[in-house]
Amino acid sequence: PFDVLVLGGGPAGASAAVYAARKGLRTGLVAERFGGQVMDTAGIENFISVKETEGPHLAAAFEAHVRQYDVEVITSQRATKLVPKQGETGLHEIALESGASLRSKTIILATGARWRQLGVPGEKEYMTKGVAYCPHCDGPFYKGRPVVVAGGGNSGVEAAIDLAGIVSHVTLLQRGGQLKADKVLQDKLHSLKNVTVLTNALTSEIQGNGKEVTGLTYQGADGAAHELKVDGVFVQIGLLPNTEWLQGALDLSPYGEIVVNDHCATSVPGVFAAGDATTVPYKQIVIATGEGAKASLSAFDYLIRLPV
Ligand code: FAD
Repeated sequence: PFDVLVLGGGPAGASAAVYAARKGLRTGLVAERFGGQVMDTAGIENFISVKETEGPHLAAAFEAHVRQYDVEVITSQRATKLVPKQGETGLHEIALESGASLRSKTIILATGARWRQLGVPGEKEYMTKGVAYCPHCDGPFYKGRPVVVAGGGNSGVEAAIDLAGIVSHVTLLQRGGQLKADKVLQDKLHSLKNVTVLTNALTSEIQGNGKEVTGLTYQGADGAAHELKVDGVFVQIGLLPNTEWLQGALDLSPYGEIVVNDHCATSVPGVFAAGDATTVPYKQIVIATGEGAKASLSAFDYLIRLPV
């Protein structure tokens, strides 16, 4: 069995594995796809100390760093169940889709999240070429250019306020008749001169010239199709944590995030969690790596206190 078994090979999982291995712990890492969301990212300019890089390049660097140590890396495998240990001296068990199972004294869950997509033509094709999901990450790429934000909940309205300070103009599209964001955010949004809010506006297609986004078509309240000329489309209709397989095993928030305390401990002793899959605020690479390190140090602290 492992001392520490990390689930996930994104920034949080990679960092957790390096920290565990450096403590001399028997460490395993299971990932469906090493790199996680970073593999889907084009330019990254906010991972401190790396001025600019590309997602696959950073993901390869994470993997190389993990493989520098004695970590058993198991990729292309999906975890389907967590069976917490019974009693103080037992082992936690992780079932894999392949039918195999792995046992460990501690578990670090770092299975990340995925952005909910609009599911319209052009979205997949122009992802990272004008279709974006993270205003903190990609906002500065659209400096002085017009963009759309799709989604009128808190994250959509926050994104529109954030982007309004950077881009030339923001059009916020809300599918329903009203914005769903908190009133203070809506008031702030309406006070901004370079923001237009369109309700009952259903995005139907994202257009491009083969290289990048050039516009967006939506169906308005009148039922007719309208076109907007924009350079960027920020989709803000929800972030889904990859935690469906953990339901019932430990405490999840109403949004499906793994509930963690400030030591990355979950509701199950010996099971820790880090990164986008958890309740930690702000889903970013630099935060996920920090959380992964923290989860590993907490696992170490837990292990040295286990009865001999
Ligand atoms: P993830 O990166 O989501 O990794 C999850 C890992 O878990 C993967 O290895 C996955 O295969 C694995 N996994 C999931 N479920 C299972 C399972 N059941 N069994 C086994 N393995 C599983 N952040 C920035 O800081 N800067 C940026 O510029 C930036 N740009 C972004 C652009 C895009 C298009 C996207 C989508 C995100 C961007 N982000 C950016 C956000 C950043 O990528 C995430 O915050 C970060 O990757 C989260 O790391 P994580 O390790 O928690 O999860």
